[in-house]
Amino acid sequence: MGATVTYDSTVAAGVGWDTVDVARDWPGLPPLKGDVTADACVVGLGGSGLAAVDALLDRGLTVVGLDAGRVAAGAAGRNGGILSGGGAMSLASEANGVPRADRIALHHDSDIELRRLEAQLGPAVVERAPLYRIAGFVRGPRDDAERALEAEHLAAMRADAAVMREAGIPVEDYEGEMGRGLVLPNRARINPAVRALKLATHCLERGAVLHENSHVTGIESGAVHTGQGTVRARVVLVAVDGKLDAILPQLAGAVHSVRLQMLATAPLSHRILDGPLGCRDGFEWMQQDAEGRLLIGGGRDQYESAENTLDDHPTAPVQRWIDQQAERAAGEPVRVTHRWAASVGYTPDRRALCVPVHDGVMAVGGYSGSGNLVGPLAARTAVGRLLDGADVPGYFRARV
Ligand SMILES: Cc1cc2nc3c(=O)[nH]c(=O)nc-3n(C[C@H](O)[C@H](O)[C@H](O)COP(=O)(O)OP(=O)(O)OC[C@H]3O[C@@H](n4cnc5c(N)ncnc54)[C@H](O)[C@@H]3O)c2cc1C
Repeated sequence: MGATVTYDSTVAAGVGWDTVDVARDWPGLPPLKGDVTADACVVGLGGSGLAAVDALLDRGLTVVGLDAGRVAAGAAGRNGGILSGGGAMSLASEANGVPRADRIALHHDSDIELRRLEAQLGPAVVERAPLYRIAGFVRGPRDDAERALEAEHLAAMRADAAVMREAGIPVEDYEGEMGRGLVLPNRARINPAVRALKLATHCLERGAVLHENSHVTGIESGAVHTGQGTVRARVVLVAVDGKLDAILPQLAGAVHSVRLQMLATAPLSHRILDGPLGCRDGFEWMQQDAEGRLLIGGGRDQYESAENTLDDHPTAPVQRWIDQQAERAAGEPVRVTHRWAASVGYTPDRRALCVPVHDGVMAVGGYSGSGNLVGPLAARTAVGRLLDGADVPGYFRARV
């Protein structure tokens, strides 16, 4: 277990997003008890698993879904709430060896996923907003080292922007209070807990059977086992991003679990952001919600060896780092109200996984910190593969 945060014990444990009614009032779902049979079983009820449940229902199948905790107990309910296209791969850099055409195709296809989510949940849940990408630290450099970092990031961003313009992806240069970089107009943000619980409600209304507190202990062709029961199904989809290497140890070389941490503050004295923002090459991200609270995370790179872990509790060193970034972004002292963390899956080339693991069993995950849209896209792709033998696009062919 990681060190728990002890330096400010007045802070509520728990997730800043869960303060809204839809999460507080969630009635909960019973655990799986005994043996049941369905056409399909989905393991993991985050944004990706729920997209799979929905796609399987569209095909007229009976579906049972299982989650070890509450719906979206993992990263899907605890993340930064940024809906950006294209996942974790840079568009311009050839460093990861993934063909540029694949990286651009992922951008366009995840944009389709954004529009689908928007149509399903409406503008109150999927809120359109500009997305800011800031070079180096937020609010500009303070010394030579920060100036050098800003220059390095700006060069990489300009190369990315050139590819975006060629590919018809709207992007503009940004220079303002928060620093220098790019702005992608008309991207979107969510409260991730609300998104997942609304999707789960929608799946339940359509006839899916969903179980919480049902930790899956074994997966084989045609059967998924928990401590208290078994689901027998000809089609099985494992949609677990963080801890995929724990539930399917055969994927341990292809994906590894990483902890990402966040905090929420009390409302700031003024509005600093009209849309989500990422800086330091994505190692920090934040958004300010309607009440003026700042929800901010990052700092993994500062403590990298400790953050490559299956543990998903917040730790004092990373939280202290985020405190500093929160004050820098806010431009004023902040009062922290919640601190939390969750696991995500990283792949060596940042390309997500969509792979068969047994006959009739597929796994998706490894979104490398950027799975809010790419995850549902991977889940739908896996459903197409399982039911129709459809091709898996190059952008999901991570090395396994
Ligand atoms: C702090 C943080 C900030 C992030 N910010 C962003 C962002 O702004 N934008 C973005 O696009 N991405 C972001 N990400 C990444 C994104 O959250 C994930 O890639 C995405 O949510 C993955 O969703 P998922 O449904 O595939 O998997 P998960 O969220 O990992 O869900 C898997 C579910 O499976 C369940 N589960 C796990 N093991 C078992 C088991 N053995 N049995 C049964 N159930 C099990 C878990 O309880 C969980 O509910 C962030 C992640 C974190 C942690």
